[in-house]
Amino acid sequence: MCGIIGYTGHTDARGKLIKGLKTLEYRGYDSAGIAVFNDTLNEVIVAKCEGRVERLDEKSKDIKGNTGIGHTRWATHGGVSDSNSHPHKFGNVTLVHNGIIENYASIKNQLGIAGKLKSQTDSEVVAALIDNYYHIGSDPSEAIIKAVREIKGTFALGIMFDDIPDMIYAVRNVSPIVCCVNDDGAYIASDITAIGEYSKEYFVLPELTIAEISKNGIEVRDFQDNKVDVKMLELDWDINNSGKKHYPFYMEKEISEQPEVIEKTIRLRIKNGLPDFSVDGVDDSIFTECENITVIACGTAMHAGLIGKHLIEKTCAIPVNVYMASEYMYCDPIVSDKTLVICVSQSGETIDTLEALKYAKSKGAKTLSIVNVKGSSIAMTSDNVIYTNAGPEIAVASTKAYTTQ
Ligand code: GLU
Repeated sequence: MCGIIGYTGHTDARGKLIKGLKTLEYRGYDSAGIAVFNDTLNEVIVAKCEGRVERLDEKSKDIKGNTGIGHTRWATHGGVSDSNSHPHKFGNVTLVHNGIIENYASIKNQLGIAGKLKSQTDSEVVAALIDNYYHIGSDPSEAIIKAVREIKGTFALGIMFDDIPDMIYAVRNVSPIVCCVNDDGAYIASDITAIGEYSKEYFVLPELTIAEISKNGIEVRDFQDNKVDVKMLELDWDINNSGKKHYPFYMEKEISEQPEVIEKTIRLRIKNGLPDFSVDGVDDSIFTECENITVIACGTAMHAGLIGKHLIEKTCAIPVNVYMASEYMYCDPIVSDKTLVICVSQSGETIDTLEALKYAKSKGAKTLSIVNVKGSSIAMTSDNVIYTNAGPEIAVASTKAYTTQ
């Protein structure tokens, strides 16, 4: 996992990128980097280094420009080093990547670029592939689409071109990207916590669409060049509350928030002393018509599932199985249309849980997700969703997200 961010607008990009990256460090922090378009030199300038964002901040003080992308890395391909840090620049293309490109080795061979790469990452190969399809003056989205059609794996990409000063392009598959716009410009990030202070309204970039991000707004098109109408979401987290405040650690702050967020999660779902999920648009029939329940989750969320099993079996006398998401599809699970599959995930992006959810759907199960992040992949994929109103959870060890689940 890693964090990406992008900004293009009327003010200096560096400060916004660094600030956003600091918020995203919980997603990965072995190295960090930014790329900003420099109007004087007329090209994209990269500053990156191994280590935390604070080090990058020191190293990048003289980078100026109003359009840029940034990355905080958690290495999957290639060790932790300055050269493996993102952004990666190849030819006219500079990009940041969150995810894993499974077929990067064969693309590298096919392009014959082994001697030209500066890093050991899968990500730089994507920059080379886009550059292979891009020629100055040609359509950048077309080049990106051609490249994306060839790559296999998970990706969220923020892309800039040397000859297109004020634009950022973004595309994703599984890995998240959220977008927002204000009078100052347009923003993208892996997580709304990084850009939530700029606008109350945001949208999740639909998978396999291209976002063309300019200082005047964001246009989203599908791969057939049709305009995509995105679904605007409202940020209901108090973003002023998203820092550490007076606490020394996020974890301590999040522990102390538990009474408040549990109340926020439960109160709106009780009517006349009974559970009521009409605010979520979840019909009672999914509970009353199911004969068995399967909870699928990973890590801490799976432990919430184990508590759920105990409570549901005791109160409702419905048998509940709890599966570790990564094992689910290999267990030949017994699924019918009387099975209710409940997927639990704080981020709503846990890949094993998402894959298991898709598998359960394909077998005919009814699905419900319990997630914290609006518009996340698991929320969008399941038939029904109940949001835990825990607000942003930054600490890696889960506390308030677990108790609200
Ligand atoms: N696979 C890329 C790398 O190792 C991106 C990893 C990430 O998502 O941080 O650089």
